[in-house]
Amino acid sequence: MMIARPVILETVIGARSALKEQPGVILVPTMGALHEGHFALVRRALEIGGTVVVSIFVNPLQFGPNEDLAAYPRSFDEDVDTLHAMGVPFVFAPSVEEMYPSGANQIRVSAGRVGELYEGRSRPGHFDGALTVVSKLLNIVRPSTVVFGQKDAQQVYLVRRMIHELNFPVAVEVVEIVRDESGLALSSRNRFLDARETHAARALSQALEAAASSADRGIDAVIAAAQGTLMGESLVALDYLKVANPDTFLPVDDGYRGPAVVLIAARVGSVRLIDNERIVLAG
Ligand code: AMP
Repeated sequence: MMIARPVILETVIGARSALKEQPGVILVPTMGALHEGHFALVRRALEIGGTVVVSIFVNPLQFGPNEDLAAYPRSFDEDVDTLHAMGVPFVFAPSVEEMYPSGANQIRVSAGRVGELYEGRSRPGHFDGALTVVSKLLNIVRPSTVVFGQKDAQQVYLVRRMIHELNFPVAVEVVEIVRDESGLALSSRNRFLDARETHAARALSQALEAAASSADRGIDAVIAAAQGTLMGESLVALDYLKVANPDTFLPVDDGYRGPAVVLIAARVGSVRLIDNERIVLAG
């Protein structure tokens, strides 16, 4: 059986009218340059059933002035070909002008206190920009379910909070982190790593593994184990290594015991990478 090529929706009006009669829309928001991490989200969406819409939009609002917006990888035709082969019926790919017709939005969603920690501390305004575009996508596509990856754990926390606190009528589905055979979390930015950097980048997931193996000895042991692993890699410049309470996403206190998430961000060469791992703190 031939699968029809995905319908590419480029305007807000076009998306609304194409999707309004569709049953149970499931949205997978992406910035394109798709890889197996994204495809795991798409597969989950297809499994849930209904009408799958993959959005491809590199959102300028979530990039800082000195970040890699212009250099962000783009491979639209290839992305659409793969989505076609997977059987995705709709791709929403608006231009920047379509999403922000009057320039940068005057009105933004504020990610609040947690939005200023970890990624938000290193990338001021990032989560306000990300939540603003997610709100717009939810209002345009009106899905019953939206799918995100655990790779961006802080984003998942903030999106869930926004959906709860702003009463968006949508369920959130979260897919586990997809890694390569060395443990490196897949990312669109990995394509900018050369061979030495790719090898060095494994230190991030190795540090998380070391952290997880020390979880029964408490938070100090967790941090020391992760730092010990990173110390051996001169190409990795650590940005942050933090342990958060998954319920509040605030840093855990010294005496905390229970589920936690270890968050890491580092620069490998000129490429900024993030990763995380859930642990249970004891000790
Ligand atoms: P991005 O295109 O980087 O904005 O990512 C789009 C979605 O794919 C987000 O929900 C990410 O968390 C998710 N994602 C990206 N990389 C991975 C990965 N390696 N494993 C699981 N999900 C991922």
